[in-house]
Amino acid sequence: MNPSTLISPYGGRLVDLMAASEEVDRLKAWANQLPSVRLSERSVCDLELLATGAFSPLDRFVGREDYRRILDEMRLTSGPIFPIPVTLPVEPGPALRLDQAMALRDARNELLAVMTLEEIYEWDRTEMAYQVLGTLDVRHPLAAEMHRWGKLNISGRLQVLQLPRHYDFQELRLTPAQTRVRLRALGHSNVVAFQTRNPLHRVHEELTKRAAQEVDAVLLLHPVVGMTKPGDVDHYTRVRTYKALAARYYDPGRILLALLPLAMRLAGPREALWHALIRRNYGANFLIVGRDHASPGVDSAGEPFYDPYGAQELVQRFSQELAVGMVPFRELVYLPDEERYDEISKVPAHVRTASISGTRVREEYLNNGHKLPEWFTRPEVAEILAETYPPRHRQGVCLWFTGLSGAGKSTTAEVLTVRLLEYGRQVTLLDGDVVRTHLSQGLGFSREDRDINIRRIGFVASEIVRHGGIAICAAASPYRAARNDVRNGVGTDHFVEVFVDTPLEVCEQRDLKGMYAKARRGELTGFTGVDDPYEPPQNPEMTLETVRSTPEENARRIVDYLLSRGFLMDDTHRGRGEGLSPGR
Ligand code: ADP
Ligand code: ADP
Repeated sequence: MNPSTLISPYGGRLVDLMAASEEVDRLKAWANQLPSVRLSERSVCDLELLATGAFSPLDRFVGREDYRRILDEMRLTSGPIFPIPVTLPVEPGPALRLDQAMALRDARNELLAVMTLEEIYEWDRTEMAYQVLGTLDVRHPLAAEMHRWGKLNISGRLQVLQLPRHYDFQELRLTPAQTRVRLRALGHSNVVAFQTRNPLHRVHEELTKRAAQEVDAVLLLHPVVGMTKPGDVDHYTRVRTYKALAARYYDPGRILLALLPLAMRLAGPREALWHALIRRNYGANFLIVGRDHASPGVDSAGEPFYDPYGAQELVQRFSQELAVGMVPFRELVYLPDEERYDEISKVPAHVRTASISGTRVREEYLNNGHKLPEWFTRPEVAEILAETYPPRHRQGVCLWFTGLSGAGKSTTAEVLTVRLLEYGRQVTLLDGDVVRTHLSQGLGFSREDRDINIRRIGFVASEIVRHGGIAICAAASPYRAARNDVRNGVGTDHFVEVFVDTPLEVCEQRDLKGMYAKARRGELTGFTGVDDPYEPPQNPEMTLETVRSTPEENARRIVDYLLSRGFLMDDTHRGRGEGLSPGR
């Protein structure tokens, strides 16, 4: 097959903004003298795609005229289709002058590019949100993010000195030019791209194979790894699933997996058209477009942001001009009696069908440690997802004891530690008094020092919880604000505040270390409960009473609570349900 038959880039050639290698040293030295612009994560993604020609024929962050024309007509002033205004918003500052060259840097201050300011213009958030996204609703992640963007857009010639560095999955990060080389080597002129921001299940495998067959094409599996919808499965997990699938379930001569560092706008139909244009630059002449393509779901009134088929219609409308065919993603369902997938429209009403929604995948299967069935997802994918989303009884949790000195925090925490070990959990006890001998050695009891102490304990606890362990913290922690900071740091779903509510008189009577007596005599100042405040929790998850209940009884109550929340699993329940899929 003629190796040069891939579709040409949009506009005829790939934009290439990389500075010539012999110029780079000189440009870097010059850039270090220039005022800097610190790019957001989004702008870094945009710069990478501009630099490598993924947005061809666009060769810069848009200027005023292009901005207007994109908003009104989805075109650049020179005529080509371009549906999304790729802007570089910045805050006003004295360095912003026309003809000024600026160094563009990432969050770590790495120098990426030099931009010569040719335009500085104001933009209107309401107008942009309304025209591009069709909504002002802050449930739309981009509409919400736009509140933080700078008030001015800047544009001008770009000289890129270095692409943003990526240290993960380097073999899969292909520029448009590199992608084209790899596609050409596969020897087919038709290429159908699949855009995704989700793990792939059997239904996606089925539909991508069907689409490739339908148009006799190679599949460009092109997941977005730049910015997707907040809350999406992280790209490390997703890419592992794509790799497993591409390696084991597709004909290697018919698939190319490559990662796209795009910052999605979640702009529905406009975004779908943008995806088609971008994929043309990577060498694809078809794009699979499904229901609700690039939509962030529903708005604050519970209504979908976009017409579910709006994306298909818009891509279809421009398909000829863009020379990218739209392959509609037809909805497929599983037919358990026939053990195969088919288009929903072809299935007679009386035939049994099966499907599992994304919410059920998380809540019913993963959280409970049930294995996803093989008809739904390949075992390799099920295993990777199970690792990322362990069942609740293997997720971390922080038990935060608070109360007066002598209330019984340490005593109860020690009993509890042993009981949790008995359940097979990994437990770290961070006892205030003990922590003060190493992690917080040298800190005293001023408000600042106490807050530092609590923040240190909280930081360690949050790391333990993140890695699936149980952190038991027992510190007086008399200040509500500090406790709430820790709660937010750990994540409130994984934070259990245990108020050890022992009356001051009882604590004082116990007076383990003779400190209350000293405080009363005035030999010790700033003692909690005597001459320093204790702010009791307002809505603790648990309140313990230590006058009538023993430490064992209280520990048992906490164990019961953790069992009811699913953070502990009784051995008698182990194995039950593994492999079973509820509802089948
Ligand atoms: P804290 O850690 O809150 O400063 P400790 O656990 O070190 O308190 O001390 C509490 C003291 O009270 C211990 O001497 C313990 O034996 C005694 N105590 C009596 N009844 C209880 C109870 N029900 N729970 C916890 N401790 C109790
Ligand atoms: P926090 O750092 O939240 O105050 P810790 O549990 O780390 O709580 O420290 C409280 C312990 O330190 C008390 O049990 C008490 O034995 C001892 N302590 C020494 N001086 C004071 C003081 N001024 N106020 C409170 N506790 C004190």
